[in-house]
Amino acid sequence: MAGKKPSPPDASCSFCGRPRGAVKTLIAGPDGLNICDECVDICHTMVKRPEARSGAAAGPSPAARLQVPRPHEIKARLDEFVVGQERVKKVLSVAVHNHYKRVKSRIEGKGGDDGVEIDKSNILMLGPTGSGKTLLARTLARILDVPFSISDATTITEAGYVGEDVENVLLRLIRAADGDVPRAELGIVYIDEIDKIARRMENVSITRDVSGEGVQQGLLKILEGTVASVPPQGGRKHPQQEMIQINTENILFICGGAFVGLDDIIKRRVGKGVIGFESESEQRKKPKSNPVMPAVEPEDLVKFGLIPEFVGRLPMVAVLEALTEDDLVRILTEPKNAMIRQYQKLLAMEGVELEFTPAALRELAREAVRRETGARGLRSLLENIMLDVMYEAPRRKAAGRYVISDTVVRGHQNALDAVEKVSPKAPPPAAEKPLEEAG
Ligand code: ADP
Repeated sequence: MAGKKPSPPDASCSFCGRPRGAVKTLIAGPDGLNICDECVDICHTMVKRPEARSGAAAGPSPAARLQVPRPHEIKARLDEFVVGQERVKKVLSVAVHNHYKRVKSRIEGKGGDDGVEIDKSNILMLGPTGSGKTLLARTLARILDVPFSISDATTITEAGYVGEDVENVLLRLIRAADGDVPRAELGIVYIDEIDKIARRMENVSITRDVSGEGVQQGLLKILEGTVASVPPQGGRKHPQQEMIQINTENILFICGGAFVGLDDIIKRRVGKGVIGFESESEQRKKPKSNPVMPAVEPEDLVKFGLIPEFVGRLPMVAVLEALTEDDLVRILTEPKNAMIRQYQKLLAMEGVELEFTPAALRELAREAVRRETGARGLRSLLENIMLDVMYEAPRRKAAGRYVISDTVVRGHQNALDAVEKVSPKAPPPAAEKPLEEAG
C-alpha cells in the first residue's frame, strides 16, 4: 500500500505544511502527497462528529440542547413503557429531573454563589430479574434524549487481571454517542449485576473473594466524577495508546441487581415483624415480592458486601417489586411497544391478523410467574409459541387470522393450527371472546 512507503527526508504534510521533523508521523500517499498524525486526528474528529462535519460552530452544545422535563412529565412518559413499579417510577423521575437540572445549571454557570452545591446522585435499583430495571434506565435515556449504554459488572475485572478495564464502561457510552464525547458526558450508564461484585465476607473464610472489592474501587472513581482516559479500541490499556479523555462528572450512573439474600440481612437488622410486613396471603398474591426490601438501609448493602464508599456514591435507592400475574398480562398488551403489539405489527405486514384470547394472556402470565424470571419469561414463552407462525406466515402469503387460545399456550395445540381452523371471515370461537387488537 502506498501509505506504508517511507516518505523522503524533506517531505512535509500536504495539509498543514509542517516538515517531517516537526511531526510525530508522516504518512506518504500517492503522487508525493503526505499527511501528518495530527491532521489525521483532526480529519477523524470531523468524520466522527456530526457538528464538526457541518462546521464546528454549527448548533448549540449538547448541554444547551438538553431539555429537562419536570418529574410528572418524566413519570407520564415512563408510564407509556413500564407497567407497575409506581413508586420506583416516581423516585426515578425526581432523581433524573434533579440530576439534569444540576447538570444544566453547572454547565450554564447558573448555580448561584450561595455556596450550596447539589450533590451528584447516582441511582441503585434493587429488584428481581425481569422486573424492568434495564427497561426503566433505557426509557429514561430515551425521554431525556441522551446516549445510553449497558454494562455488566461481572465482566469488569481489576487492573492486572484478564477481563475488561472499568474504562470500557465509558467506551460503550462514547460509542452510543457515535464518538461525540461532549454528548457522552451527559449520558446514562446502566451497570447490571452490581450485586455480583460484592465481596464475600460472611461464611467464606479460606476462599475469601476480594476481587469484587477491587472492581468496586475502580467503579467508584468514575461514579464520583473524574476525567478518565479511555482506550479507543477497548480491552486493556497499553502505554503508547492514544486515549479519549472523558469527564464523568455529569454522567448519570444507574446500577441494578437482584441482591438475593439482602432480605435476610434486613430482617436480621429490623427483627421480623417489626415494620408491619404483609400477611402471608398478601405475599402469595405478589409472587416473590419481598416485603422487607423497601426497608433497605446503606448498612445492609455494606453487610451484603458493597464497600461503604461505593454505597455512598449511590444515594438514591429504588426497590422494584416482582411483577404480579396481573402486571404480566398488562405487559403483554399495554405498553407502547408491548410484545404482542410487535408480533401483530410484523404479521400485519403479511396480511395476517393476530389475536390472543384473554385466557391465553392469563395462561402466559401464570406460566411466567411459575418460571420466576418476570417479564423475561413472557418473551421466551411467546417466542416458542410464535416460532412456527413467524416461519410460515411469509411463505404462505395467505391472509388470515390467528387466534391464540390458552390451549395453544399450554402446548396442546400448535399455533399454526389456530389459523387453519379460523378462516378470515369466520366468527371468533364462541367459548372465548378474543381480545380486540391493541391499537
Ligand atoms: P431486569 O433488568 O429487571 O432484569 P428488564 O428490564 O431487562 O428486566 O426486562 C426484560 C423485558 O421484560 C423488557 O425488555 C420488557 O420487554 C419487559 N418488562 C420487564 N419489566 C417490565 C415492566 N415493568 N413493564 C413493561 N415491560 C417490562
